[in-house]
Amino acid sequence: MKIALGLVVGFLALFGGGGAAAFQMGQTDYTKAETKIVRLRGNMSLIQIMTPQDLNNILVLTGPEGYLLVDHPEAVANAMVQKELDQLGKRPVRFLLNTHWHYDHVGGNEIYGTDAIIVAQENVRTRMMTAQKPFWSPAAIGPYAEKAWPRITFRDSVTIHFDGDDIEMEHYANGHTDSDSVVYFSKANVVAVGDIYNAKGEDLAGGLDILGIAQSLAAVLARVNDDTIIVTGHSQPSNKRELALYLPILNAQIEQVRREIAAGKSRKEIEAEGLAADWAPWFAPKKFSGGQDFLGQIYGSIQHTNEVNQ
Ligand SMILES: [Zn+2]
Repeated sequence: MKIALGLVVGFLALFGGGGAAAFQMGQTDYTKAETKIVRLRGNMSLIQIMTPQDLNNILVLTGPEGYLLVDHPEAVANAMVQKELDQLGKRPVRFLLNTHWHYDHVGGNEIYGTDAIIVAQENVRTRMMTAQKPFWSPAAIGPYAEKAWPRITFRDSVTIHFDGDDIEMEHYANGHTDSDSVVYFSKANVVAVGDIYNAKGEDLAGGLDILGIAQSLAAVLARVNDDTIIVTGHSQPSNKRELALYLPILNAQIEQVRREIAAGKSRKEIEAEGLAADWAPWFAPKKFSGGQDFLGQIYGSIQHTNEVNQ
């Protein structure tokens, strides 16, 4: 789920100040979707599904052993995903990796889970096994059918050896959710970061722990090189140079909020000040909202008051 940052007063009243307007499960209009295959390099491609609401990325590793996918939007989008996969060649989906538990990333699990091995951080499985009621969703999500539950889970990291690559999943910290994974394709030099980061021109990537997001992005930045392709959940691909510009702005914003808390400012006062000016050139004006929700998330991260179930 991409938590959109528009501050909607009515929405806040409805959800008790939770903070972020959000796309809900079932609200994405896939009948108006446009799909596209972006060849990244070698045997790696990106299937992009652009709906009026959102861009959804599915990362695809192609090889003699079959497909390995990272993320898949809602199950209803499967026909268009499968059509694009067929264009890449008729192969079975052997592995499906989830970067986190949100419905627009695990929608392929129930489709491919009978035959493919689903791998995710252990909290993805835990959350999919029971009904979830995060603040941004008016209706409960799940429980999902058992075939959709990840079959292999891990706490901190796991490596999958498939189609000639070594694919490493790392859970650095709670960030966007408590189930985030960063997925490195060592040979292809591609990394999928899920929803902890968006390329320039999109909304800010938020979640339950912005400090954790900054920690994870620092780990990614330390590991990637100038040729690494950084794939996100909902934006165009990014790279090290761009992430290296983003992270200092994020860290400076966190420190600013920390100073203001120390000076005795309330969450409301900090939110009302808006984002630091450094952010302004970063985002497309029509998507740039002032970031009150994001500042509230930073405040909650520092004060440890954000809900874990997000
Ligand atoms: Zn998400």
